[in-house]
Amino acid sequence: MCIRDSQRGYPVVESGMPQIPREELPTSDDEWKARLTPEQFEVARKAGTERAFTGEYWDNHEDGTYTCVCCGAPLFSSKTKFESGSGWPSFWEPIEQAPVGEETDRSYGMVRTEVRCENCDAHLGHVFPDGPNPTGQRYCINSASLKLEEDT
Ligand code: FE
Repeated sequence: MCIRDSQRGYPVVESGMPQIPREELPTSDDEWKARLTPEQFEVARKAGTERAFTGEYWDNHEDGTYTCVCCGAPLFSSKTKFESGSGWPSFWEPIEQAPVGEETDRSYGMVRTEVRCENCDAHLGHVFPDGPNPTGQRYCINSASLKLEEDT
């Protein structure tokens, strides 16, 4: 459910976490570079991939909401995070109504389904049909595209 945050005017979802409105997002690479670390920029804005088992969250077990590192949109809940053995944080489902979009990715001689943040067009990772119950989906997401807002 999307309601308005009356103080900031930002759209917020059920978790109460605001996301940056699209019109306030950077439009150039230089602006994004000023906001992100070099790795976050390379992964989220240039569709890079962090090396397996190196990211901040693949082995993180704190409760909370994983938001988009670029725009703050809530994307995944720790409740749907599972041990995939892949070395990347893995989820079986996005948060309801999260701006998680899918696109066909034909790079590197493979056909994969890329996952992007629809609010800011950040590259997040890929989704594969070999996940656990209840969805059978495995959202394989780069830590560099995420920021965990821990439950308080
Ligand atoms: Fe985003």
